[in-house]
Amino acid sequence: MEHAAAANGSCCNGNGATAASSPPPPPHVAMLATPGMGHLIPLAELAKRLASRHGVTTTLVTFASTASTTQRAFLSSLPPAISSLSLPPVDLSDLPRGAAIETLMSEECLRLVPALTSLLLDLKKTTRLVAFVADLFGADSLDAAAAAGVERRCIFFPTNLHVLTLILSLPELDATVAGEFRDLAEPLRLPGCVGIPGEDILMPLQDKTNPAYRWMVHHGQKYREAPEAILVNSFDAVEPGPAKILRQPAPGRPVVYPIGPLIQGGKEEDASSPCPCVEWLDRQPEKSVIFVSFGSGGALPAEQMRELALGLELSGQRFLWVVRSPSDEGTVNENYYDAQSKKDPFAYLPEGFIERTKDVGLVVPSWAPQIKVLAHRATGGFLTHCGWNSVLESLVYGVPMVAWPLFAEQRQNAVMLSEGIGAAIRVPESKGREKIAATVRELMEGEGKGAAVRAKVAELQKAAAEGLKEGGAAAAALAEVVDKWTAGEKN
Ligand code: UDP
Repeated sequence: MEHAAAANGSCCNGNGATAASSPPPPPHVAMLATPGMGHLIPLAELAKRLASRHGVTTTLVTFASTASTTQRAFLSSLPPAISSLSLPPVDLSDLPRGAAIETLMSEECLRLVPALTSLLLDLKKTTRLVAFVADLFGADSLDAAAAAGVERRCIFFPTNLHVLTLILSLPELDATVAGEFRDLAEPLRLPGCVGIPGEDILMPLQDKTNPAYRWMVHHGQKYREAPEAILVNSFDAVEPGPAKILRQPAPGRPVVYPIGPLIQGGKEEDASSPCPCVEWLDRQPEKSVIFVSFGSGGALPAEQMRELALGLELSGQRFLWVVRSPSDEGTVNENYYDAQSKKDPFAYLPEGFIERTKDVGLVVPSWAPQIKVLAHRATGGFLTHCGWNSVLESLVYGVPMVAWPLFAEQRQNAVMLSEGIGAAIRVPESKGREKIAATVRELMEGEGKGAAVRAKVAELQKAAAEGLKEGGAAAAALAEVVDKWTAGEKN
C-alpha cells in the first residue's frame, strides 16, 4: 500500500486521543473510488470540499488495477488534507473474457471486502475515522465498513437523480418488467423523471442475461438497505422532478442529499506548464470553438470517428477535438483503467483532414485539460458523450452541449438534457456527417433549438453557483451530512 500524499492522521494515537494541550485531531473520512477517472475526480472534489468548508480530512482508497500514470499524477496533486491508499491486486482471471465493466468493478469490490476491512481497522488506529463513503459500484464495501465498526456509512453517487431513481427502483422493475427494457413499447416513466425510451435506459440493464444486469439489481437492493445516506452530485434546477421527490424522506430508502455540482478545479493558469490547447484557444474569437471530447474512457468506432471528422469539417465551425484510437481497436474497459490511448489515434482520421482544417481546428491525442478548455472565453459549445462530470462541468462554465452518448448512463443523460431540461441538442442516431454538421451549426450559430439551449444553460449556471454558496441548497445539504457524522461520535 502506498501513500500518495502526507498522511494526515499522524498527529493522533489509536483512540484519537491527544496530549492535553493539543487540539483534537480533525474528523477523518475514508472514501472508496471504483475504477475510472470519472469516479475518482468527483470523489476527490467531495474530499476537497469537506476539507475547505468543514475541516474534514480524507483517505481516498483506490484499486490496484487502476494505478495508471494519469491516476498517480492526479492523486499526488491533491492537497495535504487528502491522502490515498491502494488496495491490493485482486485476481479476476476466473471471470469470462469481455465481462462488462460494471461486473468487473462490482466483483473487484466484493472480493476486496476483507482487505478493505483491515485497511479501515488500521485507519481507525491512526485517524479519527468518523465515516466511510463508497462510490456507486462500491455498495458491497459498506459491509467492510460495518465489519470495521465505522458507524456512518454513505454512498456517494457521482451521477444524477434520474439514474439514482432508476437504480432504487430496480428491485421492483426486475419483478414487474417482463422481457428486455429495449423492447418496451413506451418510455419508462419513474416518479418525477423524464420518460426514458427503452433503448436509452442505462447500458448494463439492456441485456438481462448479462451478469452486469444482476449486479445492478443487487446494487439497487443494497442502496436501499446499507447506507444511512446517499450523497448525489446533482442539483435541483437541472432535474427538478426527481429532486422534489428524493428530497422527501421515505420509508425503505436512505436520505438523499443533492450536494452538487462538485466539479474538478484546474481553471487557474499554471504558468510552469504551458498548454497547447489553451495557447491555441487564446488565438480564437470569443465563443467560436466547439470542444469535442468523450470523457476518460470513451472512443468511437472507426467509421463514426471518420464521420465526425468530416462532419466537423463540413460544419465550418472551429473545433478542439480530443481523439482516441477507435473503440473497435480496443475495449472501453482498457480505456477505463488507463486513460492513455494505446495506438496513434491520428492514423484513423480521414486522409488530409488535419491539413485541410489546420486553420480552424486543433486535434489532440487522448487527453485535454477539460476544465481549462470549458472555462476559456473562446469555447462556445461542447460535443460531449454526456458523462455526468462533463455535463456538470459544462453547466458550471455555461457551455451549451451537443449530446453524443456512448455507454453507461450516457444515453439516459442525453434524453434528460435534450428532451427534459433543454440544455443540449442530441446528434441524430444515424450519425452521418451532414447530420453532425447541421447539429453543430444549430448549437454554435444559435439556429433552431440553439438559442433556447444557450439561454437554459445560462440559467442553470446561475442556479448551480447559488446552490454552492454558503447557505445555498447544496452547501446546506453537505453541512447537514457532516453534522451527522460528527454528532454523538464515540471516540
Ligand atoms: N477529462 C479531462 N480531459 C479529457 C477527458 C476527460 O479532464 O480529455 C475529465 C473530465 O473533465 C471529467 C472526467 O475526466 O471530469 C470524465 O468524467 P465523465 O463523467 O464526463 O465521463 P467518464 O470518463 O466517466 O466516461
